Amino acid sequence: MKLGLAAGAGAVGAPALLSVQAVSRLRARTRVTDGCWWWTGTIRRPQGYGWFRDDGRRWYAHRAAWAVANGAIAPGLYVCHRCDNRLCVRPEHLFLGPHADNVRDAASKGRLRPGGNADPSIDRRPKLNAEIAGEVRAAFTGAWGDYARLARTFGVSSQAVRDIVLGRHYRHG
Ligand SMILES: [Zn+2]
Repeated sequence: MKLGLAAGAGAVGAPALLSVQAVSRLRARTRVTDGCWWWTGTIRRPQGYGWFRDDGRRWYAHRAAWAVANGAIAPGLYVCHRCDNRLCVRPEHLFLGPHADNVRDAASKGRLRPGGNADPSIDRRPKLNAEIAGEVRAAFTGAWGDYARLARTFGVSSQAVRDIVLGRHYRHG
């Protein structure tokens, strides 16, 4: 069985948790809103999840957030998003499940359509027209700080920029 990223290292005994430094880094790179909590750090592509390194181990941001809130993730389990927002690190929006459920869940909810989710705490406010969205996609380079830069350029929120950019991946999924 293929394990998730965080379960790979040091899997004997209790799975290791994050260092104190990593927890503070996680918090520093999280923007809390009334809906989703947005990861503002590095994004791993093409998966579209936030990630970071902690003492040589790689963590997906949402897995780290779940582990900080709930404890170690059992080997073989995945941290899934109720909100279908891969950059969300709000513990209440996350749940543990086997991979097959994660995939089925995403398919049944039709991941990709922003606004297609019923949970009222889910942040799907940005509304931009297709023309602007196309320009945002064209201008996105994936460089550090790009979301903020494009948000300033286009006069929208950085989360709106994220929605647009991530939509590109979802469409091909
Ligand atoms: Zn969320």
